[in-house]
Amino acid sequence: MSIQVFGLPVSRGVAIGRAVLVASSRVDVAHYFVEPERADAEIARLRQARDVVANELTTLKRELPPDAPGELAALLDVHLMLLHDETLADATKHWIQDRHYNAEWAVSAQTEVLARQFDEMEDEYLRERKADIEQVAERLLGALAKAQPLMPLSGTARDFAGEDPLVLVANDIAPADMLQFKGSVFTGFVTDVGGRTSHTAIVARSMDIPAVVGAREASRIVRQDDWLIIDGDAGVVVVNPSPIVLEEYRFRQRQSALERARLDRLRHMPSVTLDGEAVELLANIELPGDAAAALAAGAVGVGLFRSEFLFMNRNGELPDEDEQFEAYRSAVEGMHGMPVTIRTVDIGADKPLDRLTVHELRHEHALNPALGLRAIRWSLSEPAMFRQQIRAILRASAYGKVRMLVPMVAHTGEARATLEAVARAKQQLTEAGVPFNDVEIGAMVEIPAAAVSLPHLLRYFDFVSIGTNDLIQYTLAIDRADESVAHLYDPWHPAVLRLISDVIATANAAGKHVSVCGEMAGDVAFAELLLAMGLRSYSMHPAQLSSIKQRILRADGARLALALPTTLSSDDPASEWRRALGGTN
Ligand code: PEP
Ligand code: MG
Repeated sequence: MSIQVFGLPVSRGVAIGRAVLVASSRVDVAHYFVEPERADAEIARLRQARDVVANELTTLKRELPPDAPGELAALLDVHLMLLHDETLADATKHWIQDRHYNAEWAVSAQTEVLARQFDEMEDEYLRERKADIEQVAERLLGALAKAQPLMPLSGTARDFAGEDPLVLVANDIAPADMLQFKGSVFTGFVTDVGGRTSHTAIVARSMDIPAVVGAREASRIVRQDDWLIIDGDAGVVVVNPSPIVLEEYRFRQRQSALERARLDRLRHMPSVTLDGEAVELLANIELPGDAAAALAAGAVGVGLFRSEFLFMNRNGELPDEDEQFEAYRSAVEGMHGMPVTIRTVDIGADKPLDRLTVHELRHEHALNPALGLRAIRWSLSEPAMFRQQIRAILRASAYGKVRMLVPMVAHTGEARATLEAVARAKQQLTEAGVPFNDVEIGAMVEIPAAAVSLPHLLRYFDFVSIGTNDLIQYTLAIDRADESVAHLYDPWHPAVLRLISDVIATANAAGKHVSVCGEMAGDVAFAELLLAMGLRSYSMHPAQLSSIKQRILRADGARLALALPTTLSSDDPASEWRRALGGTN
């Protein structure tokens, strides 16, 4: 039977494919296809892992202290039995042989199927055996991880005929894990939790893959292999659609491919308004390799390089200065002389470092991480690490035009401490004879306090970039990653618009470059409004660039500006602006 599940639309487009259900704890398991000729080798790898686990369990049982409770030995026997049970052992092989999944993916797919079956059992005792299956699977995955390094994920590895497209369904996906899916086999994503501007959603958008988050029950309702339609424009997931619905969505897929091809033609056109105002369209990137997509989309630079993604998935090891330098240099060279704005790490909140690293740095678990030791606060609390990053950024400036952007600034004290750290890093490089160029330093305006007291901050910074994702979160006291309050996360709120408009006006009046790099910059609904506010620099996911350019090309900035005051003073700015747009454009 066909069912619809509703969530938040976070990445546009329609994906149609078979569901791959992944437990949140196993999202970071490698998902790739193995060529049919390698299936036997992959099954042998799985068998070896199973032998290792069988040994582990037998040894554990043998070494149980004599006074250990009898249940422990019985439990280990159950685990040994499950390990060899055909529902796990043979069925796992089927995913490798018939679906060409790698061994880790096969184990996690079969575990998911079994977990569902246990969930549905009437008998409570049997239902609880689900935990045993999961523990055995964890051991198997552990043994597989040790047996052989993970193969790089590759979308191209799925070239064999007959494969259905796949979409991933999970309760939650951490931003760092999401990043691993870049260029992977999945053509769409659904998660139960998350907000529109959560970093998981942002990464999905940067991958330009249809995604719906905050779909609450999705991972409970959807079953492994169900056919799904993910409507990333409307935030709807259709489970096992009827042929008519399927055909309608396939039609929409074709339409949107045509629309994209049409927009693509704008890629290398200069972006200038009808009344002749040039507007700079920049790209947001997460990894140096994304520079290629930025260039291809026609970006004239990088307005936000979220450097913290270099610090994730590291098994506890932070990138040192040289590694960071190489990454920044690669982004800079990749942009062929266009400016690259590198944001210093914004660790914390929904982008924690992995457990080991956090432990290493002795950071306690924060009660309210969005208000805690995040971004520049974190950097200033780790001065050696901060200077390392600054030196790496400065060194990259010898290879192209680099700007440094500081996240979450609120106090002039933070500005001074940052500038001191930069001065110290420059001195160290000079003493060591390492070349670097002058780097402009900018502040992200993403805390209302920074927006309101901007003139004070502007004394210290060369430019500002408005992080609307956080500015909305902190102005409205809405956790941007929490789907239960997502309906209150409102970019159209009069307070939000007033702050953005004031920041743009203040920066323009002071002659300081101002950009917007939050998600509002890539949202076509705000393109003209931001222009009317005086914005001439937008930074967004490369995939959004052409749509925004289309709006800019059709806009008359001066006429739009006339309609701004009534919108800003309205208690319903969205309707007021729509009305004004109808009349002016
Ligand atoms: C923002 O807050 O708008 C921003 C661009 O930074 P991030 O989304 O990484 O917090
Ligand atoms: Mg931010």
